[in-house]
Amino acid sequence: MSATNHTKLPKLFIPGPVDIAPETYEAMCQGMIGHRGGDFEALYASIQPGLQQILGTKRPVYLSTSSAWGVMEGAIRNLVQTKVLNLCCGAFSDKWYDVAQRCGKQADKVQVEWGEPIDPEAVRAKLSEGGFDTVTMVHNETSTGVMNDLAGIAAVVKEFPGVLLVVDTVSSLSAVPVEMDKLGIDVVLAGVQKALALPPGLAVFAISEAALERASQTEGRGYYFDFVEFEKNAVKNNTPSTPAVSLMYALKQKVDSIMAEGLEARFARHAKLNSMIHAWVAKHGFKNFAPEGYQSKTLTAIDNKDGEFDVAGFIKALRAKHNVLINGGYGKIKGITFRISNMGNETEQSIQELIDQLDDVIVDFK
Ligand SMILES: *Cc1c(COP(=O)(O)O)cnc(C)c1O
Repeated sequence: MSATNHTKLPKLFIPGPVDIAPETYEAMCQGMIGHRGGDFEALYASIQPGLQQILGTKRPVYLSTSSAWGVMEGAIRNLVQTKVLNLCCGAFSDKWYDVAQRCGKQADKVQVEWGEPIDPEAVRAKLSEGGFDTVTMVHNETSTGVMNDLAGIAAVVKEFPGVLLVVDTVSSLSAVPVEMDKLGIDVVLAGVQKALALPPGLAVFAISEAALERASQTEGRGYYFDFVEFEKNAVKNNTPSTPAVSLMYALKQKVDSIMAEGLEARFARHAKLNSMIHAWVAKHGFKNFAPEGYQSKTLTAIDNKDGEFDVAGFIKALRAKHNVLINGGYGKIKGITFRISNMGNETEQSIQELIDQLDDVIVDFK
């Protein structure tokens, strides 16, 4: 490959997009094919078994040429007929409530402070008020480093027949278990640029039979994100409209590599690398922004010691000296926290290298 600049750019330890493997870039350079034909359908079909294993489902996994928000908005437009309950605990989950209203839907929320997880009991209390047909939640709230109790919340939603559960797994899918069928989740969705470590531009998602049935009877669901169109095309190993074929080559390479690594090994690797970052956090007297028991395994959000620590200066110095990039906080906690990702392709060696670089630079910020 010539004319690529990725070796000069800083290595990304921001929580998305993350560092891309050279094999992934190479996969993307394969020749173009028409998407209404056998080669494309073979490519599509070849990715399905791995994706189904990653999402924990027997249902087809649809490929949407969009970022995650396309499918997040799509879920609202396809599924909400009466009222949606949005579980809000950070930038992405809070925004879903806003998006539901922008789609003209009735919406209510369970809201907790940023940095706190969603309490399944609060979900039960709210759903008991009645009138809801859909719940949205973010599994791993990338803005705060909180990983919610997916199984606990899914079990509560199951107690309410006719209420569908939509789960954003953008920064958790393939890094921790997501068992769609076992937990009875109705929609699992993810953009590919975070836990799946691909360039942005594609989203993967699966929907339950119940969600498909609901969608087929929901008016105003549009065309581009119409779940019924995705289903109709999926049975032919195809997509409703022209897909990002190059990203599908990348997805194929990634899913093959995940299968070769093994999901259990991949989960264990993420847990191990995350614990290395946590040890660094403790060593320097920082605190995790997320509470014990709810800390993400794919990124770490770190408190700035009540303003004592110069987040922006540290990040700038780290980039200048070592050409690596971490993140200085998102949304209303920008500057109050900083975030380090360990998701995707990182190894003990690459995380140890990062830790050495963090140690090297932090001496000037004490
Ligand atoms: C990044 C992120 C999104 C937004 O994805 P887009 O690619 O901007 O559409 C949504 N949810 C979570 C949890 C994220 O981390």
